[in-house]
Amino acid sequence: MKLLEERIRKDGIVKSDEILKVDSFLNHQIDIRLYDRIGAEFARLFADRPVNKILTIEASGIGIACVTAMHFDVPVVFAKKAKSLNLDADHYVTKVQSFTHGRVYDVMVSKRCLSSSDHVLIIDDFLANGCAVNGLLDIIRQAGATAEGVGIVIEKGFQEGGERLRAQGVRVESLAIVERMDPVTGEITFR
Ligand code: 5GP
Repeated sequence: MKLLEERIRKDGIVKSDEILKVDSFLNHQIDIRLYDRIGAEFARLFADRPVNKILTIEASGIGIACVTAMHFDVPVVFAKKAKSLNLDADHYVTKVQSFTHGRVYDVMVSKRCLSSSDHVLIIDDFLANGCAVNGLLDIIRQAGATAEGVGIVIEKGFQEGGERLRAQGVRVESLAIVERMDPVTGEITFR
C-alpha cells in the first residue's frame, strides 16, 4: 500500500535494528483517515472470504480492527492480556510472548464471543516473530472456528513470523513489508 509506505518513510522512526516506531500516526496518535484507508484495503483483499468476525489482541490492534470491521460490517473481538490467569472454563486461554515488552502473557477470549460457526479474520498492527498471531490462531482452533486469514499493517520481513505462517498455509496479507531498516541512517527499505 503505497500511501502507507510513504507515511512510514516520512514519519516512522527506526528505534533499533528490530523496532520501528510509528506512534505519531498508527499506534499512539492515530491518523483516522489513514486507518479508514487501511480498513478499506483489508476489506478489498479479503472480499473473497466469508468473514463474520474480526479478532485482534489488545491494545494497539483494537483501533485498526474496529475500522476494518466497519468495512466488513461485522463485530470485533479483542483478546485480553493478563499477567497470569487461573484456567477458567468460560474462556479460551493461550500464552503469548510480547515482542515489545519481552514477557509472556496469558491471553484470553470469552467462550461467549467465539464459536465453531465463526469465520475469523485476524488483524494486528505489526508482525514480527508471529507470537501474537499464533496465539490468536490457537484461540480460533480451541473454539473450533475457521481462520480466514491474517491482515497486518506492517510486517517486518526480516523477522520470521510471516514466513512461518505462510509455510503453514495461513493466508497473510501485509500492507507494508519492511525488508531492511537502518537505525543509524533511518533508512527503511520495503519489499
Ligand atoms: P510478534 O508477536 O509477531 O513477535 O510481534 C507483534 C506484536 O508486537 C504486535 O502486536 C506489536 O504490537 C508488537 N511489535 C512488534 N514489532 C514492533 C515494532 O517494530 N514496533 C512496534 N511499535 N510494535 C511492534
